[in-house]
Amino acid sequence: LRKAVIAGNWKMNKTRPEAKALIEELKPLVANASCDVVACVPFTNLETVLDAAKGSNIKVGAQNCHFEKSGAFTGEISADMLKEMGVEYVVIGHSERRQYFGETDITVNKRTKAALAAGLKVILCVGEMLEDRENGITEELVALQTKIALKDVSKEDLKNVIIAYEPVWAIGTGKTATSEQANEVCAVIRSVIAKVYDKTAADGMTIQYGGSMNAGNAAELLAQPDVDGGLIGGASLKAPDFAVIVDAAT
Ligand code: 13P
Repeated sequence: LRKAVIAGNWKMNKTRPEAKALIEELKPLVANASCDVVACVPFTNLETVLDAAKGSNIKVGAQNCHFEKSGAFTGEISADMLKEMGVEYVVIGHSERRQYFGETDITVNKRTKAALAAGLKVILCVGEMLEDRENGITEELVALQTKIALKDVSKEDLKNVIIAYEPVWAIGTGKTATSEQANEVCAVIRSVIAKVYDKTAADGMTIQYGGSMNAGNAAELLAQPDVDGGLIGGASLKAPDFAVIVDAAT
């Protein structure tokens, strides 16, 4: 029905030699994966990782891009620049960018549209803070984040979007959502897609879970019917751990 996608989000980790070594170690371990495997790496590692991953089944992504095509935006990287390098994926709206770098639902929408227009595949991140969950507004909030992020994205372009549900309280904390909690919110996201687009689009949408997913808990999370993959932080920095997660999805 829909293909599982396991993506590593390396965040701000790895120099170029370290990045090359990690990809070289990972390649044979994931060579027989039946899911898609993606490494989302720092901008400075893109060329190195694209080279190292050449001829393998590891696809390469960036972790952000700017929404303007070019111009006076010091320190930013455009979607076209990524596309031209051969980058296939870009993470948009990660909670760390929302928390620390002023990312809003509106700028997430702008970046999503810019990335899709450039021909990139988008891994769109949504998720509630602990306070939101305690206030019982998780479903409404995640639904709203999803709707705004996808505003004016055509049904055709939607085929190049993956959604990653990442509860902020589960990121880097070792506190994983239970598989029921993960599935519940992924199902809400799918129902939003069905409402805004249609059932075919919803059924085809790959929805990942992210937040302290690791070699030990991946199988149970990935067995959930509405969880179609994972966005992995910490555990993506160790090839054997990441490979176990990839295997759990196949
Ligand atoms: P951790 O797997 O380190 O919790 O990070 C999850 C994440 O933010 C992936 O984007």
